[in-house]
Amino acid sequence: MSEAHLPEKWESAVGFDPYRVRDDFPILKETFRRGKRGELIVPLVYLDNAATTQKPRQVIQALVDYYEHANANVHRAIHTLGDRATELYEESRRKLARFIGAASEREIVFTRGTTEAINLVAAAWGRKFLKPGDEILLTEMEHHSNLIPWQLLAKEKQLTLRFIPFAEDGTLVLDNLEDYFTPRTRLLAITHMSNVFGTINPIQQIVAVAHQHDVPVLVDGAQSVPHMPVNVQELDCDFFALSGHKMCGPTGIGALYAKEKWLEAMDPYHGGGEMIRSVWLDRATWNDIPYKFEAGTPNIAGAVGLAAAVDYLSHIGMENIARYEKLLTQYALEQLQTVGNVRIFGQAPERGGVISFYVGNIHPHDVAQFLDADGIAIRAGHHCAQPIMRKLGIPATSRASFYFYNTPQEVDRLVQSLIKMKEFFGDGF
Ligand SMILES: *Cc1c(COP(=O)(O)O)cnc(C)c1O
Repeated sequence: MSEAHLPEKWESAVGFDPYRVRDDFPILKETFRRGKRGELIVPLVYLDNAATTQKPRQVIQALVDYYEHANANVHRAIHTLGDRATELYEESRRKLARFIGAASEREIVFTRGTTEAINLVAAAWGRKFLKPGDEILLTEMEHHSNLIPWQLLAKEKQLTLRFIPFAEDGTLVLDNLEDYFTPRTRLLAITHMSNVFGTINPIQQIVAVAHQHDVPVLVDGAQSVPHMPVNVQELDCDFFALSGHKMCGPTGIGALYAKEKWLEAMDPYHGGGEMIRSVWLDRATWNDIPYKFEAGTPNIAGAVGLAAAVDYLSHIGMENIARYEKLLTQYALEQLQTVGNVRIFGQAPERGGVISFYVGNIHPHDVAQFLDADGIAIRAGHHCAQPIMRKLGIPATSRASFYFYNTPQEVDRLVQSLIKMKEFFGDGF
């Protein structure tokens, strides 16, 4: 696959042109100098999208436009710029609400990202509603973001953490799902898509069972919202966390979706300006939701950039993105087999574009370094999921993760580079 076009049989299925889309991302044209005297020029192949995604010109321009024409603080100003900034900020909330199928924009709290959204729930919901001896149900495949906040809370409130295990193929063991719920289970917190295995968990079915046990569900959507259509009302989850930077948006902005009844019932998270209604020296009352949870000056520019990202993704179509990434991932899984001696961690039938692997006996850090010499960016490490590595009995994996702007030719370059590495290491492989 050398020329820059899609395999014929993909074309009708894809619904957009990934090669044209690439023109929107200035950074994808980046090249690096390699060789002893810098005589080689290699183009970037960016396959670290599970860590963060690149930004299209439309998002970058929205940030520039905001700072050049609308910058002011939100909500409290009585002047035109303040109105502009507030309108843009609230427009972003409405767009994001629509994008993930929330019933109302009142259910969207802006945060720094997934991590802060989960910490918000642990602090504002967990402190209020959990008692010593209560149990929180998690899974063994959680990102540290959806583990450590619960560990901290468990220590503070003497809670017990329980875990749904994963099987060898990187899918959750769910045939006995009922059994994980006990009379003390108060919350299930679970990832929608694993950032290590690529597994897409059947959240809708899991939520239904949890709700039969009166257990609310928090979904870590950091890896799902960027890559597939998500509708929080269809999932019927109680909380949903996401990060803007993993869906073409800026860093430092993300959101917590929570059902209105929970936001009304929860105590505030951070204290400060904007989250209050009336303040005395010794007490205060709280602003309406979602403002009750947005203390201080928010990341206004970030929200504006996130809105541009939502527009951008909506224009391509999340169905199209999901279909294309499925084809690309399938192709990559097949092509990786041609290298020989590649172990792939995660064989779920329902999976996204994240491939964790181990090549021969070569440490993932060496793999990443070797690939970097060819301009290929992958990630090597524990991927913020040390318990997974521990259970697999390995220190780290190499991870290639795709987005809609990646192409089959880039997969080919990854595979060629791995084959070159195999020859380089020879018997040591
Ligand atoms: C990236 C990621 C997070 C953390 O997101 P931040 O943007 O760093 O807050 C949480 N969960 C999963 C599955 C992730 O991939």
